[in-house]
Amino acid sequence: MADGLRIRVRGQVQGVGFRPFIWQLARRFGLRGDVRNDPGGVLIHACGEALDAFVAAIAAEAPPLARVDAVETAPWAAGADAAPAGFVIAPSRGTGAETRVTPDAATCADCLADIRGDDPRRRGYAFTNCTHCGPRFTILRGLPYDRARTTMSAFDMCADCAAEYSDPADRRFHAQPVACAACGPQPEFEGRREAAIARAAARLRDGAVLAVKGLGGFHLCCDATDAAAIATLRARKRRPAKPLAVMGRWPDILTCARPDGAERAALGMAAAPIVLLDKAAPLPEALAPGQNRLGWMLPYTPLHHLLLDAVGRPLVMTSGNLSGEPQAIGNDEALDKLGGLVDGVLLHDRAIARRLDDSVMQITPHGPMILRRARGMVPETLPLPDGFADAPQVVAFGAHLKSAICLVKSGQALLSHHLGDLDDALTWDEFVKADADYAQLFDHRPELFACDLHPGYRASRHAASRADGAPVAVPHHHAHLAACLAENGWPRDGGPVAGIVLDGLGLGEDGTIRGGELLLGDYDRVTRAAFLRPAPLPGGDAASREPWRNLLARLDQAGCSEAADSLLAAQPRALLRQAMAAGVNAPLSSSAGRLFDAFAALLGFDGAQGFEGEAAMGLEALAARAPGGEARPYPFSMADSGAIDPAPMWRAALHDRAAGTPPGVMARRFHDGLARAFARPARALVARGEARVVALTGGCFQNALLLDLTVQALGGAPVLIHTKVPANDGGIALGQAMIAAAAAHPRR
Ligand SMILES: [Zn+2]
Ligand SMILES: [Zn+2]
Repeated sequence: MADGLRIRVRGQVQGVGFRPFIWQLARRFGLRGDVRNDPGGVLIHACGEALDAFVAAIAAEAPPLARVDAVETAPWAAGADAAPAGFVIAPSRGTGAETRVTPDAATCADCLADIRGDDPRRRGYAFTNCTHCGPRFTILRGLPYDRARTTMSAFDMCADCAAEYSDPADRRFHAQPVACAACGPQPEFEGRREAAIARAAARLRDGAVLAVKGLGGFHLCCDATDAAAIATLRARKRRPAKPLAVMGRWPDILTCARPDGAERAALGMAAAPIVLLDKAAPLPEALAPGQNRLGWMLPYTPLHHLLLDAVGRPLVMTSGNLSGEPQAIGNDEALDKLGGLVDGVLLHDRAIARRLDDSVMQITPHGPMILRRARGMVPETLPLPDGFADAPQVVAFGAHLKSAICLVKSGQALLSHHLGDLDDALTWDEFVKADADYAQLFDHRPELFACDLHPGYRASRHAASRADGAPVAVPHHHAHLAACLAENGWPRDGGPVAGIVLDGLGLGEDGTIRGGELLLGDYDRVTRAAFLRPAPLPGGDAASREPWRNLLARLDQAGCSEAADSLLAAQPRALLRQAMAAGVNAPLSSSAGRLFDAFAALLGFDGAQGFEGEAAMGLEALAARAPGGEARPYPFSMADSGAIDPAPMWRAALHDRAAGTPPGVMARRFHDGLARAFARPARALVARGEARVVALTGGCFQNALLLDLTVQALGGAPVLIHTKVPANDGGIALGQAMIAAAAAHPRR
C-alpha cells in the first residue's frame, strides 16, 4: 500500500498549463502518481515523502493564467499493483461540457523575448504564443478546447512545434495555438506576405490610415502623434468626437500619461485592457476632445508588438467598423467594409472565431473599475453569493444599450462579452448569435429567462419568444442594484441594503421612467426611499440626444423660465413648452443622466451629443480639473415624499453663472451637491438600522468623481461599488439573472 493524497484543484485550471506545472512540481518533490483534467477541474493522485510541501506549492506557484479557487485533499491509498512508478499526465476524464475556457491573454515576457531573439522560428514571428499567453476564446469554435476545435485547425504543426507541444517540460506543452514561422499563420499587407509588418509600419509613419487585424477583430489604426492622420480617420469613420483608444509601448505610456502603480498594474494585466489615464504630455487634442483622460493599452499580440516596434510611435487603435456596427472580423468582410475607409489592410490568415472588443477599465480613488467587459475578461465566471446554491439555470438578456447576456449555472454566473447597442441591425444579429453560442459552449439549458421590464426592447421581445411568452421581467434599477450586490458577493439573507441608483433611463414598476433613485431592499424586492423629482423629457428620445431640452425643462420647473429664455434664446422654446404643458411626447423622468445633461447645457454644451454620455463626460472632466477645496456643494431640497428637488441647485448655479464663477467650479459644486443629496438619506437608512450597507450603481457611477464624492458624503457608512461588472447597462443582465434566481425560490 502507498499512503498518498487525492488532490482536487478547482478554479481556472484547464488550458493554462496546469498539468505540466503539476508534473514538473511532482518531479521536483520526487513524487509518484498522476494528474488529469476532469469536469471538476484538475485531479491529482500523489504519493511520496514531500506531500505537504507539494500541496502548498500548488497554489503558491500556479502558472500565470491560472486561478486556484480551492485545493482539497483526501487520503489516497494506491494498491501495490496500481502504484505508479513515476508521475504521469493521464488522459482527461468525463465529458468536456464543464471544461472552463480561458480568456485570451496578452503576449508573455518569454514569448516577447522569443520574437526579439535569435531563433529563426520565432524571431519576428507575429503569432508566437505559449501556455502562458495567446489567443483562446477568440479562436474557439467548440468544446472541449483543443486545436481541432479552434481556428488553428487549418495549420498543421511542424515537427519542431509538435515536439514542443508534446513535451511536458516545454513552455508550449499542450498550447493549442502553438505555431512558428515554418508552420503557422502569416501576416499580409497589400496582397504580399514578405515584410508585411515593415511595409505597413512605413505607411503608418507616412500618415496613412490602415485596418489592422488583431485578436478579436479589426482595428482602424493611424499614428497617434499625427493630427492630420487622426482627422482623416475621424472623417472617414464619421466619428467626430468619441474618444479614440491608443496603443503604446511602456516608454510611450510612461511619457504621455504617467500612470500610477494601480494603473500600471491594470495596463499590465493578461487581459491588456484599455485603461483611462490622465493626459500628461501633449498629444493631438483630437484623440479625446474635451477629456482629461485618454484610453491607453499595451500591445497584446506579437503582431502589435512588431508593428509598434517598427513604427516607433503610439498608434490609434479604434474598432474597425462602420459607425454603430460591430467590428469586422473576417478578411473579406474587412476588405469589403473597411477597404474604402483605409489606405491599406494589414491582415493575416488565422480566422477569428469570436468577435471581441477591447475591454475598458479605469482606476478610481476606490480601486479598479471595469467599464467594458470583453477581450481578455470573458469567459470568466463569478461565483454566486451564499444563498443561491440551488439557483436554477437562468439566462438574462440585459437592456438595450451596452448589451450583454448572463448565464447562471452550477453556482456560477457568466456575463458575456460586451455586445453593443441593439439599435443596430448587425449588432442585433450578433446578439442572437451570442445567445446560441454561449448556450452551446456552456451546455446551458435555461429553466428561466429574464429581461428588462421594458417590453419594447428587442432583448425583452427575444426573451419573451425564448420563454414562450413568460420571461421574468425585471425593473431596470432593481436589476442594477442586484448586479452590484452579486458582484460583491452580498448573501441572499444579508439583509436590506440602500441602493443609490443614478442612471440614464429605465422603466420602473409603476410605468414611470426612472434614473435617480434611492432603493431599499435586496434581491427579492425593493421599495423606493427617495428619488430625483421627475421632470419632462421634451421630445422623448430627442431629450437624450440634445442636452438643452433638459435644461429648459429643469429651469422651467425651478421657476427660472426667464433664465431659460435668455440661455436658450435660439431654441424653439415655445413649441416645447406647449408640448410639456399638454404632456405630448414629454414623459416625466427622474433620470440623473438627463440632469447631468441639463447642467452641461447650462455650462455651454449646445447642439446634439455625438455619442451617449458625451455631455456628462465633459462635465466630469471640467469638474475634475477644478480645485476641490473651494467648491461648496449646491443645495438640493428633499420633500417628505422622498422627492429630491434640484430647484435650489439651479438658482444657486444661475447666481454663480451671473457672478462669473469658473465653469469647472460650478461643475464641481453640481457633482458634490448631487452626491450629498442622495448620500444623506442613504446614510440615514444605515444609521436607523434599516439598511446594512449602501450600494452605488447605475451608469452615472462610471463617473469617478461622482463616485468618490458620494463615498465621502456617506461618511464611513459601509459601501458596495462596482469593480468587476460594469455599473452601466453592461452589467444589468447579471442583476436580472439574480432576481430571476431569487424569484424561483421565494423566501417565506
Ligand atoms: Zn507566451
Ligand atoms: Zn512550427
